[in-house]
Amino acid sequence: MVERGEQIVSDIRRLSELYAAIGQELIDTEESLAPLRGAPVTIAYLASEGDPKAAGKTVQGKCEKIADKYKWGIPADFTITLFEPNIEYMTEDQIRILIFHELLHLQVDGDDVRIVGHDLEDFKEIIDRFGTEWNYDRQMTLQDYEVEHERKEDELEANSD
Ligand SMILES: [Zn+2]
Repeated sequence: MVERGEQIVSDIRRLSELYAAIGQELIDTEESLAPLRGAPVTIAYLASEGDPKAAGKTVQGKCEKIADKYKWGIPADFTITLFEPNIEYMTEDQIRILIFHELLHLQVDGDDVRIVGHDLEDFKEIIDRFGTEWNYDRQMTLQDYEVEHERKEDELEANSD
């Protein structure tokens, strides 16, 4: 979800039929993804063994465009990758929202599909419908939450100059 300054140690990826099925179902049923229905775009859904972090936060998913120069080898226009070590705790519902989040990064503009970012940490629709803590570990204790909140506040302070 954070796309800057990442350090990836190992990032072996494989196609995931499960994520592809969830992604297709979301495209078929979510109104905000309707523009993707029938759009000239192929998405490959991948599972990675990597556990990247960016700016001190774990990266859970990523939506990337395949550069034209690689299209000879990769039969897709975009990849959506979930970093499995970083989402081990997630329920299937949380994984669905994560894939929904990644799909919202794809914007159809006529015949063109491009990646758009979010101004805040998440898309407004995701926050409105699922809250800001949809991707939290439900097994977390109250104390974990407090530590996490303090860490986020420190991070905000550090970034607000
Ligand atoms: Zn994102």
